[in-house]
Amino acid sequence: MSADLKSKTAVVTGGTRGIGRAIALRLARSGVNLVVNYHKNEAAAQALVQEMKSMGSSCIVVQGDVSDPHAAQKVISIAQEHYPNLDILVNNAGITKDNLLLRMSEEEFTSVIATNLVGTFYCTKYASKIMIKARQGRIINISSVVGISGNAGQSNYAASKAGIIGFTKSVAKELAGRNITVNAIAPGFIKTDMTDNLSPVQKENILSRISMGRLGLPEDIASLVDFLVSEEANYITGQVFRVDGGMEI
Ligand code: NDP
Repeated sequence: MSADLKSKTAVVTGGTRGIGRAIALRLARSGVNLVVNYHKNEAAAQALVQEMKSMGSSCIVVQGDVSDPHAAQKVISIAQEHYPNLDILVNNAGITKDNLLLRMSEEEFTSVIATNLVGTFYCTKYASKIMIKARQGRIINISSVVGISGNAGQSNYAASKAGIIGFTKSVAKELAGRNITVNAIAPGFIKTDMTDNLSPVQKENILSRISMGRLGLPEDIASLVDFLVSEEANYITGQVFRVDGGMEI
């Protein structure tokens, strides 16, 4: 637990399931007030609210599609209305729509870019306006190892995640003078709903490439987020951190 995070406020997009949920719970345990966004799964959102309540943590859930600028703005505004400050933004919401290039529809390509990359742009733009005024802030963008190495059947997803890396580095340069750090995390294969629908053959193939011989857990990502938003990470910005169990060493 990071003592210096007590009473800070964080927005976590796509924070009701998988990696985002683990990040929200981890930050809540560090005393952070949470505004957690989700898109469609109301039951998962309510389950998180209950869990936060049982921990005695302050958490507001906000439905909205981050690829819609009005919805993204609403998520950030709600944080501003309910809490005195907005200290942390975690751009985690993401989707996959895999297909080989020649079979990939325009919708499959553009909707993945819209959610993963454009959604990150909207939330960062609106949140950074508040952070610039406060002259402090932490932004963490969830990319992927696929954005670094590419992956057959995921040209849309890889482009969105590579875009997040370029976006992170550029915004880090723009905001460093305002005491706002911007970093990206590139997870390998993490056990969530997103990876649960991989076929047994795909899973075997992936496992054979991971030095540690197992998929990662959402908590493996959450603990790095907790560090990157703490005082100890004050001087770290514009970086991309792989958390992949040694897929590429
Ligand atoms: P999940 O599918 O388990 O959860 C995705 C979350 O994002 C859900 O809360 C979902 O809400 C939300 N979401 C989806 N679309 C939108 C949208 N348009 N607007 C707002 N929220 C949305 O995903 P993971 O936890 O596996 O992945 C989280 C992030 O980590 C993603 O960016 C993903 O690309 C990245 N990542 C994941 C890896 C993995 O192996 N799992 C590896 C590398 C990166 P709802 O429940 O309402 O649908």
